[in-house]
Amino acid sequence: MIVILLGPPGAGKGTQAQTLAKTRGIVQLSTGDMLRAAVKAGTDVGRQADTIMKSGGLVSDEIVIRIISDRIQEPDCAKGFLLDGFPRTLPQAVGLDKLLEQQGKTLDVVVEMKVDDTALIERITGRFTCAKCGTGYHDTFKPTKAKDTCDSCGSHEFTRRADDNAETVKSRLMAYYRETAPLIGYYFAKGKLKSIDGMAQIDEVERQLNTVLDAAAA
Ligand code: ADP
Ligand code: ADP
Ligand code: ZN
Repeated sequence: MIVILLGPPGAGKGTQAQTLAKTRGIVQLSTGDMLRAAVKAGTDVGRQADTIMKSGGLVSDEIVIRIISDRIQEPDCAKGFLLDGFPRTLPQAVGLDKLLEQQGKTLDVVVEMKVDDTALIERITGRFTCAKCGTGYHDTFKPTKAKDTCDSCGSHEFTRRADDNAETVKSRLMAYYRETAPLIGYYFAKGKLKSIDGMAQIDEVERQLNTVLDAAAA
């Protein structure tokens, strides 16, 4: 199935997408992860994206649509995928509609994760990630089970994102409200939108998400 997770930075999209990839075998496509990989690899796209990402702005529609267009044509996406962090603007949503149409695919459901702004800042400033396998954690809300050891792969190395600071978060939130929030209306009008309570605990959000996906798959 084809699913979009929609929500502000820090809403829990990546956390839930990682779990769904494991429990339901759905391929997770995170444009944020792909762009960070491009920055690290020093590609042309990475060079263009780097400064914009550091400032909390949005990378151009053209770049991200191209990345997604290439990625969803790979064999592992044939049975479906879950988009985390894409689309983020109306032109990206329209671009995705076109790509899916060209490939004879249909979007099943868009899940909006609703979270209060004050909670978002707390979530983002406490976020860290395993440097080896990419599993996401939080200082308070999702600590590693054993101190400084990744639950998934046992690594002791972790990273924090350069843009996960209180200052940049404000620009990212502004970009969300200006550019991304209109997608809620766009997908509602198409009859694709389902909203869940992203303020609940991680397990409860996962339960709600599974209920929505089961209904969409039925
Ligand atoms: P997004 O991908 O939407 O930006 P993440 O999934 O990375 O968000 O979550 C942001 C931070 O909040 C992470 O550190 C994560 O561990 C934590 N988090 C995710 N979901 C919840 C939740 N329901 N309650 C508390 N903290 C959460
Ligand atoms: P978060 O969910 O915490 O906002 P992401 O990892 O999804 O973080 O995105 C990090 C940054 O990458 C964004 O602030 C933006 O600069 C860039 N980015 C990711 N996805 C897109 C997209 N679809 N369109 C434009 N920029 C994007
Ligand atoms: Zn790990």
